[in-house]
Amino acid sequence: MSILQSQDPAVFASIQSEEVRQRSGLELIASENYTSRAVMEACGSVLTNKYAEGYPGRRYYGGCVHVDTAESIAIDRAKQLFGTEAVNVQPHSGSQANTAVYLSCLEHGDKVLGLDLAHGGHLTHGMHLNVSGILYDFVSYGVDPETHRLDLDQVSRLAKEHQPKLIVAGASAYPREIPHEEFAQIAEDVGAKLFVDMAHYAGLVAAGVHHNPVECADFVTTTTHKTLRGPRGGMVLCKEEYAKSINRSVFPGLQGGPLMHIIAGKAICFGEALTDDFKAYGQQVVDNARTLADSLISGGVTLVSGGTDNHLMLVNVFASLGIGGRTAEEILDRCGITTNKNMLPFDQRKPNDPSGVRIGTPALTSRGMGSDEMKSVGNWIVSALKNPEDEALHQSIQQDVNALCEQFPVPADQ
Ligand SMILES: *Cc1c(COP(=O)(O)O)cnc(C)c1O
Repeated sequence: MSILQSQDPAVFASIQSEEVRQRSGLELIASENYTSRAVMEACGSVLTNKYAEGYPGRRYYGGCVHVDTAESIAIDRAKQLFGTEAVNVQPHSGSQANTAVYLSCLEHGDKVLGLDLAHGGHLTHGMHLNVSGILYDFVSYGVDPETHRLDLDQVSRLAKEHQPKLIVAGASAYPREIPHEEFAQIAEDVGAKLFVDMAHYAGLVAAGVHHNPVECADFVTTTTHKTLRGPRGGMVLCKEEYAKSINRSVFPGLQGGPLMHIIAGKAICFGEALTDDFKAYGQQVVDNARTLADSLISGGVTLVSGGTDNHLMLVNVFASLGIGGRTAEEILDRCGITTNKNMLPFDQRKPNDPSGVRIGTPALTSRGMGSDEMKSVGNWIVSALKNPEDEALHQSIQQDVNALCEQFPVPADQ
């Protein structure tokens, strides 16, 4: 029996049940992944006990020599992985990393251009209830109504009209590659700085499957727990000239003590991401997304923009099958397939029951699933959603799902 189990059976039970859920179901939430046993070991280590305000070699506490080593390894590996001049690995989350960028280069009320939340953007790109939308004057750009691809003419037009100080590129629900170079050109044309938020696709960049925004952006942020497959957290990559002000914005600007156990986990994650195995993983994530998208399309389902170039796709369940996103999410849940309902560009429905579901392949790919499995998953999704009332069918799909999951253990069990 574990110490936790005997000391606190209630919390133990919740963790245990979640572990079973993660093992026995198909995780298709595009922002989720399975981190390695090594990363989890670091995250559960004694480093959680340590206060280390400041940066390696310049701390406000004694006894930081060993956590300095861990943070320095994380910094060196992040630089090697993304070819960035400077990096701050301390943000507790992607949102903290984004806020640090804003704090470093904007004044209250400054004009910023960002992708509309309803078109795939993130809360931190100017949503009115988020600190970004409260403190700064965001103007939103969107996707083209026909192609559902980013409308760069609109971005350029809005940039010229509003003369923003900063342009934000990057998305949470956009199934195509982000054209970093084109954004950099638009930013240069109006004298704005470019900030690329690669939270969702950093793993694809690390694997060399997508263009590296570090080459053309002033600031790049990411989470470390999505396609990068590390511990839950964030980081900021920037040019050397901005390093001081980014560091100041993270600490003392936004945070106190850094999470040293998570930073050690980030170091391990970057070490894993530097391997050839991870390059193969990144390619397989994208290949799997294409196969799954093709399987859904051949089942008669419509995808936003007609397909995917990255790790995710947006299924228009309302247009294809006449059911709302919330219903679709619930049906798939009953089959052991976890997705999330999602607003689609120009959606006429409400956020709590929108027209779409978002589906991603990073987690299944981490279990070692490939093309054959994607075809099965696509077939199950289509047949479940086409028969929303057929509980026997949903139950039989759930059994097939469980059987498939037994063949592909989660990374921590491999
Ligand atoms: C996930 C995400 C974030 C925020 O990450 P959290 O760690 O949840 O705060 C920021 N930007 C984008 C584009 C994201 O997808």
